[in-house]
Amino acid sequence: MAKRYISIVVPFYNEATNIKPLYDALIEHVDKIVDRLEIIFVDDGSRDNSVAQVRKLQKKDKRVRLLRFSRNFGKEAATSAGLHAAKGNAAIVMDADLQHPPHLIPQFLDKWEQGQEVVVGVKHYSKQAGWFKRKSSGAFYKLLSSISHTHITPHATDFRLIDRVVLDEFNRFTERNRMIRGLIDWLGFDRDYIYFTAAERHSGKASYNYRKLVGLAFNSLTSYSLFPLRLAGYIGVFILAFSGPMGVVLGVNRFLLDDILGLSTSGTALLAVMLLFLVGMVLASLGLVALYIAHIHAEVIDRPLYILRPEEDNPEEATV
Ligand code: UDP
Ligand code: MG
Repeated sequence: MAKRYISIVVPFYNEATNIKPLYDALIEHVDKIVDRLEIIFVDDGSRDNSVAQVRKLQKKDKRVRLLRFSRNFGKEAATSAGLHAAKGNAAIVMDADLQHPPHLIPQFLDKWEQGQEVVVGVKHYSKQAGWFKRKSSGAFYKLLSSISHTHITPHATDFRLIDRVVLDEFNRFTERNRMIRGLIDWLGFDRDYIYFTAAERHSGKASYNYRKLVGLAFNSLTSYSLFPLRLAGYIGVFILAFSGPMGVVLGVNRFLLDDILGLSTSGTALLAVMLLFLVGMVLASLGLVALYIAHIHAEVIDRPLYILRPEEDNPEEATV
């Protein structure tokens, strides 16, 4: 049996000029160090002649596979499709634009053979990357990992190797709002990291513009936690905590004790405190709703309750 049977998964969207160079690099760096190889190109509804480029490769290399989407469904969907189709003992996901350097793949394979089940490429930001992109991505990761329960490594990319065991578990996920990195992190298993400097795009331009990136960021924030909603709840509780006692003090002082404190509170002031109290109640209830939604969310995405390592519970018994 081919031990190093590796599936390379490449989601692409309008990458006509990058496909051939990527293929050449893979052949140069990967082909000779694996027992068996498949390269799965997933066309995410490209509108240029990327598909023709892949077809051309398929003519001379049977190991090149092509999956085609009927329209653009997004990179996460394309990557999932590729991972579902992968047949190897390990899959490596990479971008089509050569920003994930193929010459690092031997290092991924080494770590994998040393027993790591997930090997994650972590990006050093190249100096050329805009200041805004560097800073915003840093801040985003800080925020995300501070409010979510899964640990998220900053600058971890989709450039990663996934062992068959992890892949099979991943393929059981049914949730549709997904960020693949997050899901794989959630799965656990032994992992190691490889640091790399993201190369410039080989050619063409990034199809993830800021609008899409912000969308993705919001998406992952809201699918990772209900923190925004809980935050409203906290603010509500905070408002209740001071408007409640304040209302009591002012009301008792004015109506029961005949303004013993000498505050001469106006009716308007009392009204304001009352309104504040009510707003606090509404916000606090929103926080409460968040708790219920969290339960529903957990049921709906239907993640496995736990992930077992593929081991026999008593190997001794099995051999008797
Ligand atoms: N991509 C995709 N579908 C999309 C957008 C992008 O499959 O809707 C692919 C793209 O072809 C590339 C990878 O996802 O292989 C990363 O995209 P891009 O280079 O635009 O993003 P960035 O490098 O800025 O993360
Ligand atoms: Mg790119």
